[in-house]
Amino acid sequence: MGEKTNLEQMKEKLLRSKKSGVVRAGAEAVRQADEYCRDYKAFLNEAKTEREAVNYAIRHAEAAGFVPFDAGRTYQAGDKVYLNNRNKAIILAVFGKKPCAEGVRIAAAHIDSPRLDLKPNPLYEKTGLAFFDTHYYGGIKKYQWTTIPLALHGRIVKKDGSCVDIRLGEDEGDPQFCVTDLLPHLAGEQMQKPMAKAIDGENLDILIGSRPLGDDDGADSVKTNIMLLLNEKYGITEDDFVSADLSMVPAFRAADIGFDRSMIGSYGHDDRVCAYTSFTAALAVEHPEHTTVTVLTDKEEIGSEGNTGLQCDYLRHFIEDLAAMENVPAREVFRRSTCFSADVNAAYDPAYAFAYEENNSAYCNGGVVVTKYTGARGKSGTSDATAEFMGSVRRILDDAGVVWQTGELGRVDIGGGGTVAMYIANLNVDVVDVGVPVLSMHAPLEVVSKLDVFMTFRAFEAFFRS
Ligand code: MN
Ligand code: MN
Repeated sequence: MGEKTNLEQMKEKLLRSKKSGVVRAGAEAVRQADEYCRDYKAFLNEAKTEREAVNYAIRHAEAAGFVPFDAGRTYQAGDKVYLNNRNKAIILAVFGKKPCAEGVRIAAAHIDSPRLDLKPNPLYEKTGLAFFDTHYYGGIKKYQWTTIPLALHGRIVKKDGSCVDIRLGEDEGDPQFCVTDLLPHLAGEQMQKPMAKAIDGENLDILIGSRPLGDDDGADSVKTNIMLLLNEKYGITEDDFVSADLSMVPAFRAADIGFDRSMIGSYGHDDRVCAYTSFTAALAVEHPEHTTVTVLTDKEEIGSEGNTGLQCDYLRHFIEDLAAMENVPAREVFRRSTCFSADVNAAYDPAYAFAYEENNSAYCNGGVVVTKYTGARGKSGTSDATAEFMGSVRRILDDAGVVWQTGELGRVDIGGGGTVAMYIANLNVDVVDVGVPVLSMHAPLEVVSKLDVFMTFRAFEAFFRS
């Protein structure tokens, strides 16, 4: 190695480093990332819906000493509580040494993912085949959801109030389900259609059976036979579908991707990857300075609407309860609080380079991505983190040795998207998006880098310690 030229020296001193995150992180961090991701994969396989993610969170939080929140009592530093919002969203808090009046540290991730939801009257039969009618949930490319194995997840509430939890298609030997597609031989016309129109949303129906009841092949015989099987297994009748949250999700399990096993392919990285990393960080930081508040929310994929989404006031009410315990106005807590809106960003994909601007994209293995703003059409529909807050975030991450990068969601005017950041910003909290870059986001099989997952955990940990 010769002497560095003046240009090389000046580049090193003045320009942004382009070193690979893997090199910057070093071998020990890569090893830790691989280890961390073993449990992450188990979580992905166990928690494919928001309900299952809440169950997972409660089980692991209780094992770590969290107890149900009681607004009527007071808490000490180090106390750990959780608030279950309708089994579809959850808030976890670890009380800090400082009073809440000095601000809390909020991480907010979502635990819903795109999927096919069953309609309230889902069951029908046509030409000897039985189907479940669906209404897709969230932003999907419809063609991706045909001809893949699907599993049925969810809860049915019977008229007497009793619940039946369903998870079918995941275990060895379970039946699975699928959406059919037209064979290429007959698809000449379909193949000429624009991608958005090639598959009709109304045709994303699930094949669930084909045999008639006994030897009677009269009208609705196959449908009746399916209902008989469901009645025997779950004790339900057709009317019970009306009070149910039932979803079809990809049946395959999380797997390592690549000869080097550097990535994970799975359903639902968006946003369970940020839910898992923020949740495990919340458990890891046992005696924070500032109270930590971790929100795992529902309904982000359809605009955060409804009483389990973050447009609802359930987070505001929780922090109001914390403020009331200290006899301070909640607004004093909010304006001193900071938040990592924990959500994924698009990872640069060289096959679709036209969609990205390479200087402002997040890259696989570039580490956790900090996204100053999201939105679309001239930064509409987003919170834009202030320079001051970005400055403090840089300091927190660099001081903790976290490998991180920044990135926008795609080229200007090519599309865009939003997160829960703006709803938390509306509470007068400083907020920035922090998360994992994802390849093939919203596809049944999404891909993330193990190093990025681990660095996202490290980022939340550093934030909770700040
Ligand atoms: Mn998301
Ligand atoms: Mn999403």
